[in-house]
Amino acid sequence: MNLSGIVYRPPYEANSFLLQVTRGCSHNRCTFCSMYSGVPFAVCPMEEVEADLEEGARYCPDVTRVFLEHGDAFVLSSDRLLAIAEAVHRKLPKVETIAMYASIQNIRTKTDAELRELRASGIHGLDIGVESGLDAALTYMNKGHTAGEAREQLLRLTEAGMDYSFNAILGCGGAELWKENADATADLINAVQPHLLFIGSLHAEPGCRLYQDMKDGVFHECTIGQLLDEQERLIRRLDLRNTYYFGSHPSNLVPMQGRLPRQKQDMIDVIRETREALRTQLDMFPLRGGEGAVLN
Ligand code: SF4
Repeated sequence: MNLSGIVYRPPYEANSFLLQVTRGCSHNRCTFCSMYSGVPFAVCPMEEVEADLEEGARYCPDVTRVFLEHGDAFVLSSDRLLAIAEAVHRKLPKVETIAMYASIQNIRTKTDAELRELRASGIHGLDIGVESGLDAALTYMNKGHTAGEAREQLLRLTEAGMDYSFNAILGCGGAELWKENADATADLINAVQPHLLFIGSLHAEPGCRLYQDMKDGVFHECTIGQLLDEQERLIRRLDLRNTYYFGSHPSNLVPMQGRLPRQKQDMIDVIRETREALRTQLDMFPLRGGEGAVLN
């Protein structure tokens, strides 16, 4: 299999066939991200993709889901994505869904007709790092989109019939703007009604600007108390019809999953209980390990 470098995938793609179609991330400038530092963005030749699919057909012919690698495979042109989808279905006929990471910019460059055609080809379940609904946070995090643009592009996806995961990061507004971040992010989520909400918490690893900014005191990380309060405030403000909240990322102080709105109060209760259990540590910062995993 021709996967280069560290391979990232969403946790719920654990059983998917990972197919590399690009290397790195075409944006590669988010303030908090060092995932692809030192990996120049490149598009994999179709011969390589076909060869990997050939191998897939030999070793896992019954796979039903494919996840396209790397950082934002949806950056590829619609023609290239359709060619990849055709090759996937030809080599792996049981595949129903072809998912991948995508950015708001990647959606903007595709017409409504293209989005519908991509959906018809089996492309579905995009994983989108929206991160926040607060423009001040999005600007600092250098996401390349505003909250208004995210709203517009996500609604276009829904219109085309494409499900996606809305990924948000608690703590994106830092210690000064955690309330505003919770409110604006909840408002954006409510406006687009995603099928899946993926929640993580802000952390920085060496190699990204945020890591240096935290060390230099330019960006003030949220305390344990602020992260818990932001999570509760966000969930309280969510007004969703039917969304799965996936918050089991190790960076979260309170790993939890549940269906909203049905389990809203249960989720708030768990956060309150955690707050009580951590009452002597509320002014401290989470101790973190690899991938931001909470250690304390
Ligand atoms: S967070 Fe996503 S879009 Fe931003 S640089 Fe990292 S991989 Fe690219």
